[in-house]
Amino acid sequence: MDHFELRGGALHCEGVPLEAIAAAVGTPVYVYSTATMVRHARVMMEAVSGCGSGAPLVAYAVKANPNAAVLKTLGDAGLGADVVSIGEYRRARAARIAAERIVFSGVGKTAEEMGEALAGGLLQFNVESIEEARMLSAVATAQGREAPIGFRINPDVAAGTHAKITTGTADNKFGIPAAEALGAYGEAAGLPGLAVRGITVHIGSQLTSLDPLEQAFERLGELIGALRRQGHSISVADLGGGLGVPHGPGQPEPPSPAAYGTMVRRVTATWDTRLLFEPGRLIVGNAGVLLTRVVRVKPGARDPWLIVDAGMNDLMRPALYDAYHRIEAVRPTGHRSTVNVVGPVCESGDTFTMGREMDEVSEGDLIVFRTAGAYGATLANSYNSRPLTPEVLVDGQRWALVRRRVDVDALAAVQDLAWENPAD
Ligand SMILES: *Cc1c(COP(=O)(O)O)cnc(C)c1O
Repeated sequence: MDHFELRGGALHCEGVPLEAIAAAVGTPVYVYSTATMVRHARVMMEAVSGCGSGAPLVAYAVKANPNAAVLKTLGDAGLGADVVSIGEYRRARAARIAAERIVFSGVGKTAEEMGEALAGGLLQFNVESIEEARMLSAVATAQGREAPIGFRINPDVAAGTHAKITTGTADNKFGIPAAEALGAYGEAAGLPGLAVRGITVHIGSQLTSLDPLEQAFERLGELIGALRRQGHSISVADLGGGLGVPHGPGQPEPPSPAAYGTMVRRVTATWDTRLLFEPGRLIVGNAGVLLTRVVRVKPGARDPWLIVDAGMNDLMRPALYDAYHRIEAVRPTGHRSTVNVVGPVCESGDTFTMGREMDEVSEGDLIVFRTAGAYGATLANSYNSRPLTPEVLVDGQRWALVRRRVDVDALAAVQDLAWENPAD
């Protein structure tokens, strides 16, 4: 459910007409609904309330949408943060998310990143290899601290999603193979800078079936038992993110957060661990749209090309993952037509969809790409010397520009040519 709907024939975000935002800010622009993201945060927290022992923590996966105003909104709504770089860690802290509500994931944490996060405080590092555990132990020892960790297990489960957002098979770089877990925990127990207490898993994104998640959690449960028999104390299990969001009619319908919660409650009933969750897309995906204007309609061999002022640099998901986005006119006429929707970037990959039946629009009209709140603005870049897309947050009747358009002058301003000569 979301808060984008037609009022008086024009698409609104909550109480604000998208036409007003386009007029004030220009296009393309991302528009987010506060009510939608706060609702999703609550639905997720309710779905898992009472799961595990102790209060569960829902740590929002910051990479899905790291805008400062979004993080502040979600932190105030009660979410923690799952971060994958020191930049995300700093953003989470700047949004006043408490240290004990932050987990640090990712396969390539550097010693500098580990050191800063450890000194600043966090709930735990999710460690993805024994090599990383050794480095973290050395960093912690040098600070006279113990780093709380959980190992990320790669359960070798196919997630049934797009290959580029699958993370839990043996062919993915993520986590430690289940067969090597006992060895890793055994070695880590002897490392002086580590406090080993957890286990984690995250198998992929935009999952539309609970089966692979359940399989992964079952394997985690077996491992928890095996680890305890070896004398390890496992008090925290982090079940990752990955729940898909609905993309509209004709697209796979994901399980509800409530159904997910029921499955988790059943599978983890005997674990006796605190549970953590790391949803990203579920919280913000349907809370955002990319608002764009039709630049031109050009005849095509079969269907016309609808050329819009947003490109693959603004919304990479279709080019990266063949992602589907529902496309709607901001002022639909009731007429439909079949078109190819493309951006202005000089790449054939700059194609949002081919042969799509959608609202009929013409040059100058506004349209939206729905479900663009997650992995949208955060993946945007300035390819073709295009500005970085601005972002707007709506809250009821009011709206705020929460990221200005970063134009080509601003991008050029950080470029320089000042030779260094080591011989001097
Ligand atoms: C990306 C990521 C998530 C969030 O995934 P969603 O599909 O957006 O819920 C959670 N945990 C980790 C470790 C991730 O890398």
